[in-house]
Amino acid sequence: MQSIAEALAAMLPAFSPLGEEDVPLTRSFGRYLAQDIIAALDSPPFDNSAMDGYAVRAVEVANADSASPVRLGVRGESRAGGPLPSALERGAACRIFTGAPMPAGADAVVIQEDTVRTGDEVTIFEASPVGKHVRARGSDVRAGAALLRSGDRIWHGELGLLASQNIARVPVYKQPRVALLSTGDELRELGAKLEPGSIVNSNLYVLTEMLRELGVVPVPLPAAPDSLPEIESALRKALEADVVITMGGVSVGEYDFVHEAFANLGIEPSFWKVRIKPGKPLAFAQYRGKPVIGVPGNPISAMVIFEVLVAPSLRAMLGDPRPHPQPVSARLREDYRRRPGRIEIARAVATREGDELVVALTSLQGSGSLPSFVGVNALVILPADRAELHAGDWVEALLWGPGLRSERSCFETLD
Ligand code: AMP
Ligand code: MG
Repeated sequence: MQSIAEALAAMLPAFSPLGEEDVPLTRSFGRYLAQDIIAALDSPPFDNSAMDGYAVRAVEVANADSASPVRLGVRGESRAGGPLPSALERGAACRIFTGAPMPAGADAVVIQEDTVRTGDEVTIFEASPVGKHVRARGSDVRAGAALLRSGDRIWHGELGLLASQNIARVPVYKQPRVALLSTGDELRELGAKLEPGSIVNSNLYVLTEMLRELGVVPVPLPAAPDSLPEIESALRKALEADVVITMGGVSVGEYDFVHEAFANLGIEPSFWKVRIKPGKPLAFAQYRGKPVIGVPGNPISAMVIFEVLVAPSLRAMLGDPRPHPQPVSARLREDYRRRPGRIEIARAVATREGDELVVALTSLQGSGSLPSFVGVNALVILPADRAELHAGDWVEALLWGPGLRSERSCFETLD
């Protein structure tokens, strides 16, 4: 049986990125850059004012203060998006607004609050050294400079930066198409009539969203019954995708046909079973280099194994150079006794208490049922060798789903 680390080490090499494509910026959110991006433009693209006020020559207002204000004639105006201002005459100021281009010759802005305007003249009560309240061309980004790196994920800041550079198409790694194939005679589609003995194929809907959230393209397939030929023919269809995930039928029961179907189709097993609870009967195989993952059908096992092993693998395939989740430290709220032997991934609700994170396990009774996943925002990693854990013990946890939430604004105490 593999450790989690061994399983990941065996899986990751099979999940290299699929190659790159250019997509419109408006379709690039959440994707991973496949190339370094070099700045095309200076940003800001022109010297402009950071404030509403008057553009001046710094030297002409160098001695201004409330006792000896400086008086300048107002010549012209510069507003954002308006006509370009003409060069500033000596002994004059130009009315200017935030974001507006600086007139040639001006090298500082005096803010409106430090002036009094009377007709064509402005009285200035404050000196403004060279560059004051001026956003200089290229001060944020110089054309030709490295802007973003291959492997960076396009998130809000990256998207805004690319847009500000007028970059309308971006090179990103291709999104893998991931087939989801449930197996089981008992499974029915959502909304179907449930005759005795049948259940809804709920994993299909959960894993579809888990895939979507990661940024891959889910390809949900109709469930296959527990019959070898039908699983084989469904698998042939599934193999048209870039990655195949089967659900259920990978245990040791008489009706668990997935291993046999893999063998008959030439899908070569790499490992089966991982020292993890829940999720032990995970199978990993490859068909001509294409990853095929058999996850157990138990809904809790499927979700946990997805988060721990499938998600990092798929992130690597999406082009993420750091595909592994980063745990945070938290304290246990209650005692927990367990059978040692395997790392256990326990569902929990994490809240902040003072400076610490506290996790309350929702799976204390070892329940494998779906209600124990409701409201879960952390998966707690319980070490393999610990039989007894106590309230207050430090544990590692992966933040999950909606993350930390609060009914109160933190600003009530940070005022
Ligand atoms: P299996 O891994 O096929 O032995 O299934 C283990 C348990 O999970 C059984 O109780 C199945 O009925 C249930 N199960 C299997 N596949 C699914 C699925 N796609 N959605 C919901 N439950 C499932
Ligand atoms: Mg089954």
